[in-house]
Amino acid sequence: MNKYWGLLFVILISFSCKDDKPVLKEPVVKQVASIVPDKPVMKQFGFNLDDFTVQLDTVKRGDSFGELMLQNKVDYPKIAKITQEFKDTFDVRRIRVGKPYIILKSKDTTEAAQVFIYENDPINYTVVDLRDTVKAYKDKKEVTYVEREASGVIETSLSQAILDQGIDYTVTNSLSEVYAWTIDFFRLQKGDKFKVVYKEKYINDTIYAGAGPIEAAYFEHSGRPIYAFAYENDSLKNIVDYFDEEANNLRRTFLRAPVQFSRISSRYNLKRRIRYYGNKVRPHMGTDYAAPRGTPILATADGTVTESTRRGGNGKYVKIRHNATYSTQYLHMSKQNVKRGAYVKQGDVIGWIGMTGNTSGPHVCYRFWRNGRQVDPLKEELPLAEPLNETLQPDYFNYISPIKDQLDCMEYPESPVEEDILAEDLASAEK
Ligand SMILES: [Zn+2]
Repeated sequence: MNKYWGLLFVILISFSCKDDKPVLKEPVVKQVASIVPDKPVMKQFGFNLDDFTVQLDTVKRGDSFGELMLQNKVDYPKIAKITQEFKDTFDVRRIRVGKPYIILKSKDTTEAAQVFIYENDPINYTVVDLRDTVKAYKDKKEVTYVEREASGVIETSLSQAILDQGIDYTVTNSLSEVYAWTIDFFRLQKGDKFKVVYKEKYINDTIYAGAGPIEAAYFEHSGRPIYAFAYENDSLKNIVDYFDEEANNLRRTFLRAPVQFSRISSRYNLKRRIRYYGNKVRPHMGTDYAAPRGTPILATADGTVTESTRRGGNGKYVKIRHNATYSTQYLHMSKQNVKRGAYVKQGDVIGWIGMTGNTSGPHVCYRFWRNGRQVDPLKEELPLAEPLNETLQPDYFNYISPIKDQLDCMEYPESPVEEDILAEDLASAEK
């Protein structure tokens, strides 16, 4: 009997983890070329490139639109007309050094410029059509999305683990945002693991244009697994939140910390003794987050700014009232970004890390008030955000089921270090 169950189990596993979806796994190298050379029909930027002599270049120091056009046999009146008439679409004074442009020239002996294309960014471009009646317009390239999956085991830091896998570095930020409420990113541990499914943007199917938002993720911190699935919470307001496998919202009413990627330099401690003050007890009512000067300080929850001022040892600070129960305060800013009375949303930048007031290094002292008393936010049971609306839950569970299987079936990259150790062990065992 046991044997059969074992067999069934193996079949189920191999079935559920069948690799039936083509997913990009190789890292993609960033490209800068604007024209895709091997497209069968050379129709790009809305032109059939075969009809022209194509000149690809970038704006050099000292280049001007007028000069470039004169060199390519466009006469003064036309240049003047473009400069004046199409100022709103194409401001010739705003062409920037380093930006790519393309000149499509006639294939006859004159090689006169027919079309000028300026690439505002990797997706958007401006066309100046010099043929017949001159016209200028803006357009954008076709953007496609390719699903990509990645995983890693943390050796030193999350960003290193992401880099080691050749994953776009912006995925580090996205992951830390998805888990900002549930995982303390200052205290990631060696051996913490992640898996992530996200989309990559491509222009004309081939040119990499960055990572899109995370669709689903799995993070194992201190052995505790947390799933995250992007789901539209409110179709009217277009709000996408991340929920776990039980439809609990990963968002909390408070962020774990007011700074991304910093470290806690001093915790809330009522019995703190400081040698400088003769080893007397000087309670520390806040949590200090050290980060470089100028790092943005974020409001940990929605609320109204009740103080934005400078006073004594606090230096420049902001205090926010969130509701009848909770307030938070942020000290030693280099500069505030909000005024008293302003309403702020969770994650808004309210100021920047500095050294005003009593401080020996750049940090923010984060103070958390409950019913008028300062408490340790790291020990508080902070209120949860609402779970997914019950009417949406059946659809949600249907939607996440295949994605969860996909996450569960992903494997972690093998650690080369451990392999080496194993190889050494085997070698020494053989002696
Ligand atoms: Zn402090």
